[in-house]
Amino acid sequence: DRFFAGTSKTRERLGLVDEMIAMWKLEDYEESLEELEEVLISADFGPKTALKIVDRIRDGVKTGKVKSGDDIRVALKAAIVELLTARGRSSELKLQGRPAAVLIVGVNGAGKTTTVGKIAYKFGKEGAKVFLIPGDTFRAAANEQLAEWSRRAGAEIGTFREGARPQAVIAQNLDALRQRSGKDAADTFDLVLVDTAGRLHTAYKLMEELALCRAAVSNALPGQPDETLLVLDGTTGLNMLNQAKEFNEAVRLSGLILTKLDGTARGGAVVSVVDQLGLPVKFIGVGETAEDLQPFDAESFAEALFP
Ligand code: GDP
Repeated sequence: DRFFAGTSKTRERLGLVDEMIAMWKLEDYEESLEELEEVLISADFGPKTALKIVDRIRDGVKTGKVKSGDDIRVALKAAIVELLTARGRSSELKLQGRPAAVLIVGVNGAGKTTTVGKIAYKFGKEGAKVFLIPGDTFRAAANEQLAEWSRRAGAEIGTFREGARPQAVIAQNLDALRQRSGKDAADTFDLVLVDTAGRLHTAYKLMEELALCRAAVSNALPGQPDETLLVLDGTTGLNMLNQAKEFNEAVRLSGLILTKLDGTARGGAVVSVVDQLGLPVKFIGVGETAEDLQPFDAESFAEALFP
């Protein structure tokens, strides 16, 4: 399946970069650069992004900035940081509405519900009043999981209806919120987090349905969602790019969250997603507990790729 196949090869392949750097010879750098490009492609960066990275290193060699293997390593990291931060991409969430709304999408198992919980916890800790909408109506367990997170995060959770259409559940909850906040200022929330379904066996319908979920948010809260974030499993290979393209077409993403970076995954493919879709990474997930969400930092990410 175009979504599931291919786990990340970033980590094992990047070992080859080390070998290449050790053998780096300035005299025949063109050949070495070609090899480097191959390795980057096989390490999930994809052809277009690998080419860009290598072009930047080649510029460095030509201008005399890159001479040694160590310089290559530095140039490689710098090129990746540059791609990850190009055009002022920032990991800050842009939350302007009151309530602000964030729609969270992604395939089953990517870590959506966990991430919604972690974000609720983070904002709750900062004093925000957070409301969770259980839009994954196809998995009863998703609701229990989210309810557990709401307790942990001190957030309120909306009404769940198993098997109902997700967009209907979202609309109903937002409507109820609006009526409440009209009556009592204490019922005004700062942030609404919308969890969604991610069943894949019907990928096409899923995308249609997610577009309707987004529309349900904008209908109830004009100008919202402030952010539409795609949760990506960091252990996925370059298929991440296919996922991101499809979700982006369906719901117009504003950013990415990369999960499961606490394991062996290095998530090289995300560089390609950022580069080709122009979307910033907002957070990374580094474990299963509430505290295991970190703002994305391009420098540390590049450093982890080439320690
Ligand atoms: P969903 O189907 O996208 O909502 O995915 P879940 O939130 O249910 O997560 C799927 C599994 O991945 C669960 O066992 C989570 O605990 C786990 N998980 C989510 N994020 C992370 C992470 O950053 N690190 C690790 N190690 N596990 C994670």
